[in-house]
Amino acid sequence: MARDYAADITDPIAQEIVSNVGVWVDREVKPVALEYEHADQFPDPLVKGMSEMGLFGIKIPEAYGGLDLSFECYAGVCMELARGWMSLAGIINTHVLVGYAISEYGTEEQKQKYLPKLVEPEIRCALTITEPDAGSDAQAIKTTAVRDGDDYIINGQKMWVTNGHRAGVYLAMTKTDTTANPRHKGITAFLVDAGTPGFAAGRRLEKLGYKGVETTELTFDDCRVPATQVLGGSEGRGFQHIMSALEVGRINVAARGVGVAQAAFDDSIRYAQKREAFGKPIFEHQAQQLRLAEMITKIRAARLLTLDAARKKDSGVRSDLDAGIAKLYATEIAQECVLDAMRIHGGVGYSKELPIERYYRDAPLMVIAEGTSDIQKTVIARGIVKDYPI
Ligand SMILES: Cc1cc2nc3c(=O)[nH]c(=O)nc-3n(C[C@H](O)[C@H](O)[C@H](O)COP(=O)(O)OP(=O)(O)OC[C@H]3O[C@@H](n4cnc5c(N)ncnc54)[C@H](O)[C@@H]3O)c2cc1C
Repeated sequence: MARDYAADITDPIAQEIVSNVGVWVDREVKPVALEYEHADQFPDPLVKGMSEMGLFGIKIPEAYGGLDLSFECYAGVCMELARGWMSLAGIINTHVLVGYAISEYGTEEQKQKYLPKLVEPEIRCALTITEPDAGSDAQAIKTTAVRDGDDYIINGQKMWVTNGHRAGVYLAMTKTDTTANPRHKGITAFLVDAGTPGFAAGRRLEKLGYKGVETTELTFDDCRVPATQVLGGSEGRGFQHIMSALEVGRINVAARGVGVAQAAFDDSIRYAQKREAFGKPIFEHQAQQLRLAEMITKIRAARLLTLDAARKKDSGVRSDLDAGIAKLYATEIAQECVLDAMRIHGGVGYSKELPIERYYRDAPLMVIAEGTSDIQKTVIARGIVKDYPI
């Protein structure tokens, strides 16, 4: 490994864990990622390796068998996973996010039922907000949950569900009051177990990148769910709970941006010293030095912003502003860096024999998922204007 990617982690335990994950990524992930990617195959052995390192229980409280490590540690781990293969950090994302939502907002019964199973993990988690007619405007969802005695009946269609076929439990955003004003007061989150009658994961969506992990449609067709499955037990809190959990998702996606950009840089600076043009390594052409210097400056800034946002979340306060800034910057610079990497590699960068084209296909997802860059900008602007009363 050329650099110590964990050097910016402040907590010594977290630093050691991130370093160890980095060693595992170099040894186990880098050599096989292209194969899984091109076959669009779920990487069972790699997921087993992540599980053996305890990564699925990284944010689960110790009382339920988890490691209960910091968000700083989690961010560092996601950077390292994405440096090897972005899809791995995606496989863990909704799992950690839903585990966080249950730990923070679940009833004791829900914690007892799910958290120990998320550690090994016996079951994995998916998050389902997006619908065919509602993405950025999540409060426009049409999926309804109607009370019927001790149960709710859920009807609706969901889109873009990462881990949609392999999850054991789904955190689903629904409307229990379609007339509520403001709209978020009518939103309720449910924990829906795979196999519940009336609930089905459907078509797997074909994607530009983010291969190996499935992203699917879901339908609720008169799906009967006990009222005990309402996250936290009371109606109308779902939007608040899911938005808080999305801060965790945004830290994950920011970290993925850092990891992919770092991988693109690492490959580029090595290649630039080997490849010769006009009688010298292309690194000796100043234009390439400037390009590489700009790349690493952006990556360093993105890394520090992401770790800063994670530490803010660790402090227990709302971190939507910080997570938004980190996610916006890290994912936008990732797009720039992967294009720079392709320019540095010339024609071979366009070949499927090197991972550059994979980084190039993976980067756009990160500026879309967990809230597009436009949405991050609105979150940032609304978050910061409060500090400037007139
Ligand atoms: C591979 C993949 C995996 C995903 N996984 C999941 C998942 O597991 N669970 C889940 O629930 N969702 C998931 N998503 C969905 C993802 O979160 C949405 O795609 C994203 O939030 C954007 O929503 P949309 O696609 O409906 O775009 P739209 O909301 O239709 O946006 C289209 C364009 O309009 C812009 N726009 C919208 N509103 C505004 C505004 N107010 N101001 C300025 N511009 C605006 C957007 O920035 C964008 O450029 C996934 C998506 C992908 C591609």
